Amino acid sequence: MGEQSQNPIDVGRFGRSAMGPTADVAVVGAGVVGASVALELARRGLDVFVVDKGAGPGYGSTSASSAIVRFNYSTWEGVACSWESKHRWECWEDHLGYRDTDGMACFRRCGMVVLDAPIAPRDRVLRLFDAAGIPYEEWDTAMLRGRVPGIDAGAYYPPKPVTSDDFFADANGELGAVFTPDAGYVDDPRLAAANLARAAAHRGARFGYHRKVRALTRRRNLWHLELSAGDILQAPIVVNAAGPWSSALNRLVHADADFTVGVRPMRQEVHQVPAPPGFTAIDAFFPAIADLDLGTYMRPGSGGNMLVGGVEPECDRLEWIVDPDLASPRPTAERYEAQTVRAARRFPALQVPNRPTGIAGVYDVADDWTPIYDCTSLPGFYVAIGTSGNQFKNAPTIGAVMGELITSVEAGRDHDQDPVHFRCPSTGHEVNLGAFSRRRKINTESSGTVMG
Ligand SMILES: Cc1cc2nc3c(=O)[nH]c(=O)nc-3n(C[C@H](O)[C@H](O)[C@H](O)COP(=O)(O)OP(=O)(O)OC[C@H]3O[C@@H](n4cnc5c(N)ncnc54)[C@H](O)[C@@H]3O)c2cc1C
Repeated sequence: MGEQSQNPIDVGRFGRSAMGPTADVAVVGAGVVGASVALELARRGLDVFVVDKGAGPGYGSTSASSAIVRFNYSTWEGVACSWESKHRWECWEDHLGYRDTDGMACFRRCGMVVLDAPIAPRDRVLRLFDAAGIPYEEWDTAMLRGRVPGIDAGAYYPPKPVTSDDFFADANGELGAVFTPDAGYVDDPRLAAANLARAAAHRGARFGYHRKVRALTRRRNLWHLELSAGDILQAPIVVNAAGPWSSALNRLVHADADFTVGVRPMRQEVHQVPAPPGFTAIDAFFPAIADLDLGTYMRPGSGGNMLVGGVEPECDRLEWIVDPDLASPRPTAERYEAQTVRAARRFPALQVPNRPTGIAGVYDVADDWTPIYDCTSLPGFYVAIGTSGNQFKNAPTIGAVMGELITSVEAGRDHDQDPVHFRCPSTGHEVNLGAFSRRRKINTESSGTVMG
């Protein structure tokens, strides 16, 4: 272990040689995605080196994640990957093949209520649920009121700014919902990334923290990653898993020259408020709730709290940013009000404290809110990016997807012309990885929000 490192899986200093370590694969980013990719590549017998500019695994956008595991996506591939991933979260230790003595992240099954909204039509998602074999219940307004204590089942669509009088207008109808009992959330997303990283290290992957990739060049079939510590990491294969920093990394080598889908960082906040009275009894039914009708989502938090996030309603200003490092991690009064007042409209008994509490993180948003898991036009340069605020849940599957993709392409497959297919080990479903191509047609079925 290096003298500077407090992290048990940090290799520490590389040594003084100008030519630093070599590996089969260099993964940039030890978030939940990069750590999962590292584990699956190490499982395939590859020598993997992961670098991260942070102090340990999962300190990027992963640490701010609400970590909701739900299955409502606009595409078959999104639905199939999330359903596969649920099975992996449920048997996390088996998935890792390792027990982390520093603690294990835990999947909490609480169910998810998705309220009706025109931008995410019920018929479309139910067809996909039927095809995937995902259990669900369709609720009419009476059932919604009966099952979710204290809910206002009024329809208010489209979402309005909470500062406008229109926001307080009477309901224009009543809502039903779709309930998926198997949904839930992971209680500690940063720990989940650490679990994946330690499982990968257990299989031989190496991790170097406090190392930013500053420059990338390719010489004699090897990528040379120039790191902030002055070291150079060499590998024939690079995986960009840099989260909201991914587009900056791509730009270092113009890896995005032929992308038809753009990716850019967006700041987003999640707030914490005391849960409304109906949810606080020990055995109370307290599901996660997606409310595209008002423009918010909620899930159980720890200690009797509720987390409240946003789903990018068109009426709100979105915070596109240039440099994720400059994004304030603290909640603002404006966002806090926008999200918690919507939650309080849905749950009139919700008490909203004056002082904003919560966190801010940064999404890595693709133009159609659908991720990019792909090779690029540069030999040996792969991307697992554009996770659009909705791919924490899929991390266990993303690693396996990237493993399959990289192995196939390195063996000579032209993935652009003849897309690799991935068979989900737990469910048997087949996923055409062309759906995650950098050169795909924009997914016009997307809700255009974090729901994907
Ligand atoms: C507020 C919020 C709420 C969310 N809620 C949910 C949810 O409920 N459900 C869900 O499924 N998803 C959710 N997400 C999305 C999910 O958390 C992300 O999709 C996922 O965590 C992305 O992981 P990542 O590994 O790609 O990125 P990150 O966790 O950001 O990891 C990228 C890593 O790359 C490193 N890095 C970047 N550039 C460099 C460089 N040049 N050199 C070295 N290292 C570098 C960074 O330090 C970082 O650690 C949410 C996200 C946010 C921000």
